[in-house]
Order: sequence, then structure tokens, then C-alpha cells
Amino acid sequence: MSDPVYLDYNATTPVAPEVAEAMLPFLRAQFGNPSSSHIRGLYARAAVRDARQQVAELIGATPEEIVFTGCATEANNLALLGVAAASGEGKRHLVISAVEHPAVMQPALHLRQLGWAVSVVPVDGQGRVAPEAVAAVLRPDTALVSIMHANNEVGTIQPVAEIAALTRPLNILLHTDAAQSAGKIMIDVGALGVDLLTLAGHKFYATKGIGALYVRAGTPIRAITFGADQEWGLRAGTENVPAIVGLGVAARLAWERLPEATVQLQRWRDRLHMRLAAAIPGVTLNGHPDERLPNTLHISFPGVTGRMLLQVASGEVAASLGSACHSEHDTVSGVLAAMGVEAAHAAGAVRLSVGMMTADEDVDRAAAGLIAAWRQLTR
Ligand code: PLP
Repeated sequence: MSDPVYLDYNATTPVAPEVAEAMLPFLRAQFGNPSSSHIRGLYARAAVRDARQQVAELIGATPEEIVFTGCATEANNLALLGVAAASGEGKRHLVISAVEHPAVMQPALHLRQLGWAVSVVPVDGQGRVAPEAVAAVLRPDTALVSIMHANNEVGTIQPVAEIAALTRPLNILLHTDAAQSAGKIMIDVGALGVDLLTLAGHKFYATKGIGALYVRAGTPIRAITFGADQEWGLRAGTENVPAIVGLGVAARLAWERLPEATVQLQRWRDRLHMRLAAAIPGVTLNGHPDERLPNTLHISFPGVTGRMLLQVASGEVAASLGSACHSEHDTVSGVLAAMGVEAAHAAGAVRLSVGMMTADEDVDRAAAGLIAAWRQLTR
């Protein structure tokens, strides 16, 4: 029996063969420390420099604006806490959305414990933040607004550029967590108007344990961990050279494959949706119908729980209820709750996310498996 079809690309992606290949020399002969001044160090340093260039190109930044981190969580922590550390006494107000990943939500709560005011902007029924809702909470002491680019559960894409048009004239910094959107849709930090942007390697075919923070030149920010002066003094610690090299190659591949990949992902996503909707009356989409990640299908099945459905279909499909990070609990996802999705509807929700290694046959097999499981449970 073959493995179940993997439809959990929003949790993590496989490593692209080109990425693994490029990393191998740095796990073997080229083990140098980029800070060493001998030949091995120089070789490692050059590899890190090239990767920085590749990551910068993916998002329209300059290499000097890229800080490699251990993961997206760390990049988000550096963005929020690092900006907070650099902001003056009179600027201690932070704005986030109600659907942020815990990697933004938790540092925001930490700042609240330190005496910061934190405003949480609501979303509509499709998971979108209204720019006017952000405008309504901005204050003279607002230091930073952090609104994710695309949601990890329902895939809704936020109007970040419109929000930037509000924050920029007021000299308020804007951060966006693009862990889910990078490599899936085009990102240009100039067009988005953001000052800080988070990337996660393992969401676009690099390895786990590598991320990056884009920091626009001139953005006031301080380190939140302390040590030597790697990464422009913002992230001390010897660089994870193999993972950084892998991230660079993944960024180059994403750059080369977009926008064709976007179209292909959307085709698979919509084929899956069509198959399920044709066979199961009452299947409903969660998230925005159009302003949504091209690979993400978050749907509610009637009369069953998502957990039971995935259990019964587990031989055919490997997917998540929502975010993989908290899918062990039966509580309604915070994202769906913020969208006002009612409890019964939320209980039947499943997140199906396709990726570059998906094939037409996978989509059809997964759809058949889910339909059979639903029929079995509702017989
Ligand atoms: N931000 C978003 C939107 C995510 O989806 C994730 C991971 O699921 C993260 C941050 C955290 O990524 P990591 O666990 O790699 O730090």
C-alpha cells in the first residue's frame, strides 16, 4: 500500500532535491566557520553571502537587509521585541491582528506583560483585516503594526500594502509574517511597503531550523540575544551554513518557478475543492474565496468532525485540522473563532494544502479517500 497523499504543505514541505544537493558539501568537506579568516572560512562566508543575495532577490530586498535566523518564530520575536527594544519611552503601543500565529501573538503578549499597550484588530468572516480597523486603533504612541501576510490555517491574504499606506505617513513601523506566503506568491517588500518581513525555510522546500527577517535599511531595531556580531549584530551565533545555503537555493527555485507554480498550485487546490463539493452537499469553504493562498483549501464537512474524518481517511490522506502547531486539541481554532465561524461548522473543518510535489492523481486519490470517509461516517 502506498503512503497517504501528503496534503499538509502549510505545516512543512519536503526538502527540494536541488536544496539537499547544494547543502551536502557544507555538511562534509566545507564545514568552515564563516568568521574564520582561512580558506575554509572564506568558502563558508562566500556561500552565506550568495544565499543572502538569493533570499534578498526573492523579496525585492538588498542583501544587507536580510538577517538569517533559526526559524520564523525567532524572526517574529526579533521583529517585535527588537523594534520594541529600540523604540523610545513615548512609543509603547503595538497593533496585531486577531489571526496571528502564536509566533507573533506570544511576543505581543510578552510586551503587554512588560507594560506595552497591545491592540488586537478583528477580522471579518473571511479572515481579512479591514485597513480602516487598523486606522481606528493607531495612536500617537504606536511603534509597530504586525499583520501577517497570509494566514496559515485558512490562507486568507491580508491587505498589507493598504495598511502600509496608513502606517508609513505616520512613521509607524510595519511588520508582516510572510512564513506562509513566501515561495507561494510573489512578494516585493517595496510594493508591500513593509519595514520588516518574516520568512520560514521549511515552508518553501528548504530545511527546518532556518528562517530570515527582512529589515528595511534604517529601521530602528536592536538584538534580543547577545553574543558575537554575526548577522549585522542582530543575531549572534555561528551561522548554520548548510541550512542558509539551502534557504538560498530554495529562494532561487521559488523565484524561477513563480508565477507558474502559483497557477499550478491553484489548479490542484481547485480540482480538490471541485471533487469534494460535487460529492458532498454542504461542504463549505473557510477563508477568502479569492484573496487566498493558491495552495490552501480550508473546508468544513457537514455532520462530521474534521478529526474523525482525517482519522478514517488516514490511509489515503495526511492533512491537518488547522495549524499543525495546535492540532492535538479539540478546541475551536482561534483563527476560526476570530472569523466568527460557529462551533459545529468549525468542528468539521480540515486544512488541505497542496505543494510542488503534488500530482493530479494525488488530488483525485485524496478526494476519493475523503469522500469515502465522509460517507462512512454519515451513513
Ligand atoms: N508564522 C506562520 C504564519 C506560520 O505558519 C508558522 C509555522 O507554521 C510560523 C510563523 C512559525 O514557523 P517556525 O515553526 O518554523 O518557527
